[in-house]
Amino acid sequence: MLNIVLFGPPGAGKGTQSERLIEKYGLVHLSTGDIFRANIKGETELGNLAKSYMDKGLLVPDEVTINMLRAEVLKHSACKGFIFDGFPRTQAQAAALDQLLIELGTSISVMLALEVEEEELKDRLLKRAAFSGRADDADPKIIENRIAVYNQETAPVKSFYMSQNKFISIDGLGTIDEITLRLNQAIDSL
Ligand code: ADP
Repeated sequence: MLNIVLFGPPGAGKGTQSERLIEKYGLVHLSTGDIFRANIKGETELGNLAKSYMDKGLLVPDEVTINMLRAEVLKHSACKGFIFDGFPRTQAQAAALDQLLIELGTSISVMLALEVEEEELKDRLLKRAAFSGRADDADPKIIENRIAVYNQETAPVKSFYMSQNKFISIDGLGTIDEITLRLNQAIDSL
């Protein structure tokens, strides 16, 4: 299997690039943010719980997120591979993902980390708010929180994959096509 962690701060372009990668490599896209939003829309118990954190720009608790991700992975255990988008966001999630993939007899192939500076991120998220309809994009204070949570809790996940020699940094500035090309080159060089 080809299992990719597509990593980066809020607004780095993970969702956009995931769409292109799943098409080219025939992978299943698992975006924890998208799954939470679908649950919020469907007014499920999980959705109500997730919303109370997401609206503040906080992470949904690990146990809830890990259980949900686990169920989604098991639904697709026969696929060619996964793109994990927005997961893992903590060291505990990264460890749980490794464990889950061992159960399936596979492992993470690579972490591709989109690097984008903070001012550009804030700009992109506020622009996205105009059409995403996402409450967490529309409020500069919540954007600040999400970036702070990324810096404190999520960025350290890089070192988890660095220590396994699975980390590749990708310049996330440029046109969408340019960034797709960089990602394709990194994957094809594996
Ligand atoms: P972005 O990358 O733009 O912040 P996402 O759609 O990935 O957007 O995530 C939106 C929100 O969903 C996060 O701010 C967080 O509250 C919640 N979330 C998504 N993935 C996770 C995760 N792996 N662990 C905890 N919370 C998560």
